[in-house]
Amino acid sequence: MALLSIVVPCYNEEETVELFYDALINVLKTMDKEYEIIFVNDGSKDSTLEKLTGLYNKADGKVKIIDFSRNFGKESAMLAGLREAKGDYVTVMDTDLQDPPEYLPKMFEVMEKNGDDVVGTRRVTRKGEPKIRSWFARQFYKLINRYTEVEIVDGARDFRLMKRQVVDSILSLNEYGRFSKGLFVWVGFKCEYLEYENVERVAGETKWSFWKLFRYALDGIIEYTDMPLSISFWVGGFLTVVMAVVLLVQLICLLFGANITFNAVLISVVLFMGGAILLASGILGEYLAKTYDEVRKRPHYIVRRKYE
Ligand code: UDP
Ligand code: MG
Repeated sequence: MALLSIVVPCYNEEETVELFYDALINVLKTMDKEYEIIFVNDGSKDSTLEKLTGLYNKADGKVKIIDFSRNFGKESAMLAGLREAKGDYVTVMDTDLQDPPEYLPKMFEVMEKNGDDVVGTRRVTRKGEPKIRSWFARQFYKLINRYTEVEIVDGARDFRLMKRQVVDSILSLNEYGRFSKGLFVWVGFKCEYLEYENVERVAGETKWSFWKLFRYALDGIIEYTDMPLSISFWVGGFLTVVMAVVLLVQLICLLFGANITFNAVLISVVLFMGGAILLASGILGEYLAKTYDEVRKRPHYIVRRKYE
């Protein structure tokens, strides 16, 4: 029988892990697949680990836990889980039931029917989410998709069913910055999305503050596009042209004896140019930081203990 690996990153999820596990098992029981569930405890500060070891003890070998030494973020947790997964099929799920387990059989059905390598899910609504966050999310997808060679699908979740080969390809990308929304589509393969309405978390709270998400979006843009560099190019170019025109006009006015306070203009020119240079070097700095990360080749996470 084919083996399905389910990777589950958890961070402070004491309220949800058991609910999630029960809902998942109910669905898995109806399916004709062997399964393993790999929980990655991403440095939770609450009793998540105790809840997980409880599940581990009662699940006779079908549950594994990777316990991180601190919080390394969801991307690192996913990476650890994918590396650990032995399945012919692999999926990633959140513990908060925002990725409904009932979709798993449907995903398999679609995959078999259409011969897909990947079946993803995407939410077509963002109800229950702050308006401003939705707006930023939409702008992010618009922006990043204008400049990337692959399409990063709006609303796509990390909840996706992948065949072994796809997972191996993702793991073969050994860059440090793991922006998985990008990595998942970058590897290609035949992929299809099931659409659904946003579901709200069963319990607990989201771990993503607005700024964490903003930073995440910025990482995506910097890792997947050269757009910020071209901004500095265009802004710089625009400023140079505008300033050339301004200077020309001033020169002509002075020639005709008009009364211009030259100092005022000079100050604004200097400020403008200073701003442009700062912006450009700031953007270079972002790239430099990324390069530094890549060169350092630090591990993505440190495992404290494995339960298997
Ligand atoms: N998560 C994690 N490490 C983190 C943040 C989140 O492993 O640093 C996990 C979290 O436990 C959950 C999943 O990633 O299972 C998605 O997080 P959340 O539901 O808070 O995000 P949202 O659905 O609000 O985008
Ligand atoms: Mg969630």
